[in-house]
Amino acid sequence: MAAAEGYPARSAADARTLADMDARLVRCRACPRLVAWREETALEKRAAFRDWEYWGRPVPGFGPADAALLITGLAPAAHGANRTGRMFTGDRAGDLLFATLHELGLASRATVTGPDDGLELFGVRVTAPVHCAPPDNRPTPGERDTCRPWLAREARLLRPTLRAVVALGGFGWQALMAALGEAGWSVPRPRPAFGHGAQARLTPVGETGGSLAVFGCYHVSQRNVFTGRLTPDMLREVLADAAHTAGLPVGRPGG
Ligand code: SF4
Repeated sequence: MAAAEGYPARSAADARTLADMDARLVRCRACPRLVAWREETALEKRAAFRDWEYWGRPVPGFGPADAALLITGLAPAAHGANRTGRMFTGDRAGDLLFATLHELGLASRATVTGPDDGLELFGVRVTAPVHCAPPDNRPTPGERDTCRPWLAREARLLRPTLRAVVALGGFGWQALMAALGEAGWSVPRPRPAFGHGAQARLTPVGETGGSLAVFGCYHVSQRNVFTGRLTPDMLREVLADAAHTAGLPVGRPGG
């Protein structure tokens, strides 16, 4: 099936709510290479998941529509979110992220398995600048740019409540800055550089709205965690700082 006319830029811009946007997003076929890969992977499956009905479509963001904190990664993993249909769910990167959010009192569960596990996020939404699984976890710059209208619209719709964003990895940071510029924040020139612990504060353009704090964090990829480039303490520190800046209560559930 050919990409529907107007996808993604016009369709994203026309979305009036996040639910509306997500319903449009899952029908997107704008990137031929990624469409082929996500669907091929969903058919071939990994042996350990042969009983799964893979999602095999664009993966929407997950979390409340009035989130104060947004966490952006890179793209869905072929046998993770491309299988479960929920961002960061089904691979080791997501396991660490949600366990840490739970530790901070921002997620209802420490372990996640799939869309039926009852996970709830409190004041936090997770998303990605590229919504379809790419081969080798590497979207091209062209695919990143093609997908940008979705992230820009998501940020725009969250704007009344959004106060902080954590970008996981340099690719996500670059994509995020461009999307936030389209979503109504003033991005400094030259753009702030990515680094673990990097911070930037963006001011809103025009309409009323709060400023936005952007935090850089190494990606929660299995490789970064395995090599010690990103430790659980480092991740916890950035997420806690960002959540605090966003005005979210941080602490252990029930603590
Ligand atoms: Fe559409 Fe984004 Fe998927 Fe490309 S990566 S097909 S723009 S949802």
